[in-house]
Amino acid sequence: MTGIKELLLSRIRDVADYPEPGVMFKDITPLLADPAAFTALTDALAEIVGNTGATKIVGLEARGFILGAPVAVRAGVGFIPVRKAGKLPGATLSQAYDLEYGSAEIEVHAEDLSSGDRVLVIDDVLATGGTAEASIQLIRRAGAQVAGLAVLMELGFLGGRTRLEPALAGAPLESLLTV
Ligand code: AMP
Repeated sequence: MTGIKELLLSRIRDVADYPEPGVMFKDITPLLADPAAFTALTDALAEIVGNTGATKIVGLEARGFILGAPVAVRAGVGFIPVRKAGKLPGATLSQAYDLEYGSAEIEVHAEDLSSGDRVLVIDDVLATGGTAEASIQLIRRAGAQVAGLAVLMELGFLGGRTRLEPALAGAPLESLLTV
């Protein structure tokens, strides 16, 4: 696994002061452009699907779509997009959450999740945990079980893991890389 972690880390580009001053943006586009690295990442996340017994993947807009969709195909489970408000055409469940300044809202098609589902949430970066927390709340409100949260990279210094403990309620948080 160490070799895989080194490969993944080497393909993530740090962009200082993007999208605003003080933020170190983790750009995964070099990783996506490298088939060996993207395949290794897809395989590692698909293994987590198997370990958690997940039957569906929720991907968080937008980079959670890019990572979650090939993992769903590889693992043989369904893929469900959680989108920013106003993008899904059908009947939705919505969840608002606080940002540093203001608030945001995410949505899922209500018919995509039901009580028989065990759902693994996938995203690229875990920062404060606000987006992941809202997605977990959506999944529970739909009556489905949360199998866990899997991310490529966790920004440990922002405390997302601690924030998510109550929402995850014992379900695993798997991060392939922690900085
Ligand atoms: P948060 O809700 O604070 O955990 O933020 C998570 C969402 O914002 C994820 O969908 C990430 O893609 C994105 N994000 C937050 N911080 C960064 C960062 N430093 N680099 C790249 N993406 C980030």
